[in-house]
Amino acid sequence: MNSFDVVVIGSGPGGYVAAIRCAQLGFNTAIIEKYNSLGGTCLNVGCIPSKALLDSSHHYHDAVKHFTEHGIEISGEIKIDLEKMIARKTAVVDQTVGGINFLMNKNKITVFEGVGSFEDKTHINITKNDGSVEKIEAKNTIIATGSKPSSLPFINIDKERIITSTEALKLKEVPKHLIVIGGGVIGLELGQVYLRLGAQVSVVEYLDRIIPGMDSALSKELTKVLKKQGMKFYTSHKVKLVERSGDQVTVQAENAKGEIITLEGDYSLVSVGRRPYTDGLNADKAGVKINERGQIEVNEHLQTTTSNIYAIGDVVKGAMLAHKAEEEGVFVAEVLAGQKPHINYNLIPGVVYTWPEVAAVGKTEEQLKEAGIEFKAGSFPFKALGRSRASGDTDGFVKILADAKTDEVLGVHMIGARTADLIAEAVTAMEFKASAEDISRMSHAHPTYSEAIKEAALAATENRALHI
Ligand code: FAD
Repeated sequence: MNSFDVVVIGSGPGGYVAAIRCAQLGFNTAIIEKYNSLGGTCLNVGCIPSKALLDSSHHYHDAVKHFTEHGIEISGEIKIDLEKMIARKTAVVDQTVGGINFLMNKNKITVFEGVGSFEDKTHINITKNDGSVEKIEAKNTIIATGSKPSSLPFINIDKERIITSTEALKLKEVPKHLIVIGGGVIGLELGQVYLRLGAQVSVVEYLDRIIPGMDSALSKELTKVLKKQGMKFYTSHKVKLVERSGDQVTVQAENAKGEIITLEGDYSLVSVGRRPYTDGLNADKAGVKINERGQIEVNEHLQTTTSNIYAIGDVVKGAMLAHKAEEEGVFVAEVLAGQKPHINYNLIPGVVYTWPEVAAVGKTEEQLKEAGIEFKAGSFPFKALGRSRASGDTDGFVKILADAKTDEVLGVHMIGARTADLIAEAVTAMEFKASAEDISRMSHAHPTYSEAIKEAALAATENRALHI
């Protein structure tokens, strides 16, 4: 029987990064993956393919809507070849997954294909595609089995017309009317892909605003911009029925007054969140406790109820984000090596890759108010930046929240061009406990979108933004 220092179950961004770090630290490491390629949700049906489609649809949208503003005339009709667009996305995924195979080889990590299930706390059975079972020994195990799309009990996801994000990444036609259930990150990103490609898109959200976990100023601005782009919103609407009849889908939802609205479309994307995935793991045989939310229970060292078994990523508590899973992968490897790593969960940035992009880190205004923390707020709109006017991306703003007394930055919230990348400055500043004044005194290249951060910091420090 093969024996390893560390066995990682699941090869998403949590699992494969954990395996690499374990190998770097000198552990004899194996990884088990049941899907037909490495990379997990993120690489195969999540972050990477969704961004590929967002980029392709963005190019089309710009060509149709904005090229003429720049003095670019295209003679003839601009057409979409959806099959080619999806094929490009698949090629991007294949190339990225290929990179993970390379990294596993490079780091001499043994890769097992199959479903990993615990026999006990040190033995794992791997059930391969052909039904054969291989037993291996693991001194330590890291569970990184991720998550799956969740649904509502009365919805029958047929994966053809009533779909999850996985199917939305490979549709064969542009929907005429896509009804998105859930105004969170995934629904809005994929909704915007098809909106740009010509679909009518309606978003039904149970709460009173979209991207509800983020600062409400971001929700408000994103709603405004997406409405301007043609997306329709039904917030404070509770979906009661989702039904398919032939190629049609009917969605009924109830508003706060108890009135029922009926939407008719040809596809409905159910994006109401994701659930931790532990099917087939036989966690109980290893004494690993799963809580009432379906998450694997872990302590502050990400150790499960069994001391040689750890768990990371979407399958444990916390934000369901690839970079959070990666941090946890590195963390556990270093714990196993006797190091004392640290993760600052307050500084895990959240991003929505719509256009304009939305990005945030730290506390929201609502959270600070609820905690009774006194703060100052400074905002700066992108429309006042030369860089934004040059590109035509004038929507959005940067908002900085700083402690009223110490001026320490407590939260940064931004919506606008390239904020997914800009947020890194805020993370760095906050990691080093910068004050708003610190940021405002650093030189920011001109003309760049990053100047909005400096200006918002000036506004937060002394209400002295320069360009507004
Ligand atoms: P996963 O990536 O889910 O990987 C788990 C792996 O474990 C899977 O490959 C699964 O097959 C395997 N597995 C499960 N059980 C077993 C078993 N018993 N034996 C062997 N293998 C097993 N996050 C971001 O940060 N940025 C984004 O832009 C972003 N976009 C997204 C877009 C979409 C459409 C979706 C669906 C998600 C997106 N996410 C994004 C979320 C991100 O994909 C997840 O947070 C991330 O993949 C979690 O990583 P993980 O390693 O915990 O698990």
